[in-house]
Parts: sequence; structure tokens; C-alpha cells
Amino acid sequence: MTIEQKLDLLNRIYGIYDAFARSLDLACRKYCAHCCTSNVSLTSLEGYRLVHSLEPDQLEYLQQCLEPASEKRVFRPLLTTNRIAELCRQEREIPEEAFGDPAEICPLLEENACPVYPLRPFGCRCLVSRVPCRESDAAEMPDFVLTVNTVFLQTIEHLDATGCTGNLADVLLCLLSDENRQAYREGRLSCSATGLIGNHPLTVLMVPPEHRARLQPILAALAKLSTEPS
Ligand code: SF4
Ligand code: SF4
Repeated sequence: MTIEQKLDLLNRIYGIYDAFARSLDLACRKYCAHCCTSNVSLTSLEGYRLVHSLEPDQLEYLQQCLEPASEKRVFRPLLTTNRIAELCRQEREIPEEAFGDPAEICPLLEENACPVYPLRPFGCRCLVSRVPCRESDAAEMPDFVLTVNTVFLQTIEHLDATGCTGNLADVLLCLLSDENRQAYREGRLSCSATGLIGNHPLTVLMVPPEHRARLQPILAALAKLSTEPS
């Protein structure tokens, strides 16, 4: 699959999720940005989509915002979602993740608004809450939404199975390099050499039995993407 085909599929996956999110009764509003922290993770495909869509002056600004953030002890995942799913399938122990220092605000946030909102990765899209997080200091998410989020994380990682995952600052800084973007397009970006972790194909979906029936329309919409023309 070419990078253009992957980006097209990614856009359509986001479209399915955004339609699902619109069906929920959420407290999320513009300028509500308590959830915009420096601990967001994303795949290289999502990072590529973001960097690839910006103008040169925006890229320079991105670099300036991200460089200081990458030197901090932000959340850097050790395992991807599909890797965790596979360990669960094998009934193996899941190593604990280190969450670093208390989360700071996302280095991209400007006056409580996201300057790359249409290009934000799934890790930002899926952070939703029934109550304003500022009041409860945490998002309140129904269990079914957590399940849907996990399925989408698994699907996006699968689409980018030859790519990498990491913290927002690390992935974007990696892909701000023309050389790394070229390597990524050609499927030869080394995740370990760039401080990221390798993605995995999807082997098993993490869906609790009580959510299987309700999830069917979403799974059907995702399955249809692989059969319909772009
Ligand atoms: S997840 Fe919380 S902080 Fe983020 S937009 Fe929704 S209510 Fe606001
Ligand atoms: S990328 Fe945008 S939406 Fe995501 S955490 Fe940063 S400011 Fe918020």
C-alpha cells in the first residue's frame, strides 16, 4: 500500500470515529484544553500526515515548540496497543509503563486552542469526557468509549504496522527531518534509531464480551474501508 493510500484510509478512519464521537453526550468544547498534555502518543503515519500538511514557516514554529518538550520526562510508551493485545492473548505479563513527571501542557497548545486541530492525532481525538475535566481533574469516559478507542488505536497501528509509535514531541521531531520523512515513505525508518518503538500488526481485538454486539456497526464500517475504493 502506498503512503497516499494509507493517509486516505487514516482520514476515513478518523471520519468514522468523529461520527461516533458526535453521537455521544460530551462536555468537550472549544477552548476546553485541560486534556491537552505533553503525554500524547501517536503513530508515525499520523505524525507524517501532520508534518506533511504544514507550510515551511509552520514547520519551523513546530520545531521551536517541540525541541524543549522532547528534553523533558514525558510519557514515552514502551509497548504499543497491538503489542499489549498480543501479550494478553498469550496470557503473558504486561510490563508496567513509566509515566514520567506530572503531565505538562501540550507544547503545541496556544491560548487554549490547538493550532493543528484538523491534523491532530487519534490520541487527541479520543480524549473525550462526559463532564468538564477541569471540575473532576480527570476525563470521565464510559467503558464502551474506552473499548471503541482501543479498537481504533489498534486499527490505526495496524495500518502503520511497518512504522513506529512514540510521544508526540519525539515522533514529530523525528519526522520534521526530510531524511526521516523520506525513509518513512520508503518503509525504512528505524524506530529504535530514532528513539521510538516499532508498531505491530493487529492479531486480536481487545473487546470485552459485553461490548461485542454494540460494537458491530463500527467494526462493519471499518471493515468496509478495506473493500471500498478511495
Ligand atoms: S476531554 Fe475534558 S478537557 Fe478535553 S475537551 Fe473534553 S471535557 Fe475538555
Ligand atoms: S496536539 Fe493539539 S489537540 Fe493534541 S494535545 Fe496538543 S494541543 Fe491538544
